[in-house]
Amino acid sequence: MIPFLSLREVTGLHGAEIQEAVKRVVESGWYLQGAENERFEGDYASFIGSKYCIGCANGLDALIWIFRAYIELGVMQAGDEVIVPANTFFATILAITENGLKPVLVEPSIETLEIDPARIEAAITSRTRAICIVHLYGRNAYLDRIGEICSMHNLKLIEDNAQAHGCKCDDGRKTGSIGDAAGHSFYPGKNLGALGDGGAVTTNDPELAAAVRALANYGSSAKYIFKYTGRNSRLDEIQAAVLDVKLKHLEADNAHRQQVAKMYYDGINNPLITLPKRLPDAQNVYHLFPVLCTKRNELQAYLKENGVETLIHYPIPPHKQECYAKASWNNGLQLPITEQIAAQELSLPIGPTIKTEDVAYIIDVINRF
Ligand SMILES: *Cc1c(COP(=O)(O)O)cnc(C)c1O
Repeated sequence: MIPFLSLREVTGLHGAEIQEAVKRVVESGWYLQGAENERFEGDYASFIGSKYCIGCANGLDALIWIFRAYIELGVMQAGDEVIVPANTFFATILAITENGLKPVLVEPSIETLEIDPARIEAAITSRTRAICIVHLYGRNAYLDRIGEICSMHNLKLIEDNAQAHGCKCDDGRKTGSIGDAAGHSFYPGKNLGALGDGGAVTTNDPELAAAVRALANYGSSAKYIFKYTGRNSRLDEIQAAVLDVKLKHLEADNAHRQQVAKMYYDGINNPLITLPKRLPDAQNVYHLFPVLCTKRNELQAYLKENGVETLIHYPIPPHKQECYAKASWNNGLQLPITEQIAAQELSLPIGPTIKTEDVAYIIDVINRF
């Protein structure tokens, strides 16, 4: 069986260095809010190209803290609207609703699978305060048009960069440094993955950075001074040390993903299968390799019979989830493109360790479907 992604192999790729980093922290006797967080935050901020990086417990919290900080700073208030792609992973929407904000779901383009800028303006109202773009599948979702819409309507631009560490937009800036703030996830399967949960916020805004740092530490702005009612949402020292090791190898790992993607683009020629529009390599770090197929379930079963594991991202879009069935913003929403993607998407194996001969085999099997 060719696994979708072997985390054991991914960790093994830089195993000795990771073991050494973990050992260093274990033996240091210092496990939270120490030198490892400080080093990783500095290294990740300069990698992304942002002034500030604040480590936190996971990617969902990173996004929650961005919206919550804007509420604490008086930039947003409950009931305000946030424009967001309808086909994102559930957590993006949850970060908005957790803060009492209203998600306004905008359809993606079926060619790019990213939020369709042509549909954004029609969704803007007097309550819109932000656009949250998601660099889904590792693809850059930022377009100059989106930046223009934000300036024109005085909206915050928030990036969900959970799937796109190392990706760049058209002008060469890294995703996660383009908007007013970005949330990053270091869930193990992400391009930059920890050995457990982890996340971070990046921003150039010192006030936002200070609020996020306080919120993720009970709301504490100084020792035993509580400015906000926050939570305990910190990145631990072991994860920070592991992430700092893996950050050094991220570009090489992403380059392997890009090489695999090139093989898929050059090799897949089955007319039943549609590949998303190909972006220049700088703009896609291929967290996932999604394809569309009207016979998706048959294709998945056929690949499994032939020893290839695949996954679906995502089978049920957020607006179809039970928890949002009665949400006021979800009353009779018609999102045919998002539903089409949910019905047709299949993610092929890709990652920093998959062998090129396995990719060649997968292509051959797909072309015989
Ligand atoms: C993984 C992910 C998140 C959530 O990150 P966690 O660290 O798992 O909480 C948010 N948004 C997107 C697009 C993701 O892929």
